[in-house]
Amino acid sequence: MPEVLFPLDSTKRFTEQEIIGHNRWHPEIPPVAEVRPGQSFRVHCREWFDGHIHNDDSADDVRHAPLEIVHALSGPFAVRGAEPGDLLVVDILDVGPIPQEDSGPLAGQGWGYTGIFSRTNGGGFLTDFFPDAYKAIWDFTGQRATSRHIPGVSFTGMIHPGLMGTAPSAKLLARWNEREAALRATDPDRVPPLSLPPLADGAILGSLRGADFDRVAAEAARTAPPRENGGNQDIKNLTKGTRVFYPVYVPGANLSVGDLHFSQGDGEITFCGAIEMGGYIDLRVDLIKDGMEAYGVSENAIFLPGNVAPQYSEWLAFSGISVTTDGEQRYLDSQLAFQRACLHAIDYLTRFGYSPEQAYLILGAAPIEGRFSGVVDIPNSCATVYLPTAIFDFDVRPSAGGPARIDPGRGVPKTAR
Ligand code: ZN
Repeated sequence: MPEVLFPLDSTKRFTEQEIIGHNRWHPEIPPVAEVRPGQSFRVHCREWFDGHIHNDDSADDVRHAPLEIVHALSGPFAVRGAEPGDLLVVDILDVGPIPQEDSGPLAGQGWGYTGIFSRTNGGGFLTDFFPDAYKAIWDFTGQRATSRHIPGVSFTGMIHPGLMGTAPSAKLLARWNEREAALRATDPDRVPPLSLPPLADGAILGSLRGADFDRVAAEAARTAPPRENGGNQDIKNLTKGTRVFYPVYVPGANLSVGDLHFSQGDGEITFCGAIEMGGYIDLRVDLIKDGMEAYGVSENAIFLPGNVAPQYSEWLAFSGISVTTDGEQRYLDSQLAFQRACLHAIDYLTRFGYSPEQAYLILGAAPIEGRFSGVVDIPNSCATVYLPTAIFDFDVRPSAGGPARIDPGRGVPKTAR
């Protein structure tokens, strides 16, 4: 096992640890350790809400989740010799849930959760149709996930970090703040908001204290969006075996990681759509000097996805076009087309006895594939969403006999509401 450079005590909050991570992006957040090119190291990661979501049957914790404290990130790790203009090579050697024996109330070990966030606290991809909060707890048995809140489904996890990235330069951070503020100004009262401003309340900035803390907290970027540095990309294919190439914007690169997912569907559509968990990740870093210019990767990471994924040979796919549920024609709106494909899939799954919320949670959490299939055929773009038929323990395909009903004897347990 590689040396643990960022340990977490499962019985303590993120801010009470021996080494304290961070939950904002800023070039002046001090590194917690320095690593050499070629070095492998282990990092413990807290689930993104630092233990505020509980293994129970109520969604009150999701409904009132403290969004100002996310994401609990481990790091930053300075890489010796890294300079702006380099590409930072990051290999994901291993990634998994916290071992059962390290059990603690805040770890999220042996289980994870998927949440539908309420419209007034986070929202989600289909928040117009699902304005209230729901939650499903998933149990892990080896690589398999099952949920007492969603019967009839089990699948192999594609474990990956939802969030990983390098620190922005002061110039890049200023650009983020400027463009995101400009977007917010177009509709400042929108719920959910168009973007999130820097927020000192709830900020965790590693070892920074006093006046430095106050200054950095006032300008540090929130971690919700993916940006040029990587960040919250929520790419389900960043599994074990992945190699990512991140742009380096500050001396040392200052790599951070967190928001581990046991599994996730493309799009992470419920906003907390993955199976969120605490865990560990083993990384190895290296440098390509001046790689940003050499490869034209001046912003946004490129990567070689891992090859650890469940093998499915059959998929039931749903398509959607850029026409609203009210019948209004939109021009090549792929976001809308993908929403419509997801809504068709949800509607279909309810015919088997699932509630719409259960179906929505399945699309967020299971290894669902999403694609933009056609983006040029005016006026409709076409998006598709693919469900592996094997994740259901009944026949989910259409047939002359009509849809089977799940758990006819027991009825369908309600999703945590
Ligand atoms: Zn996440």
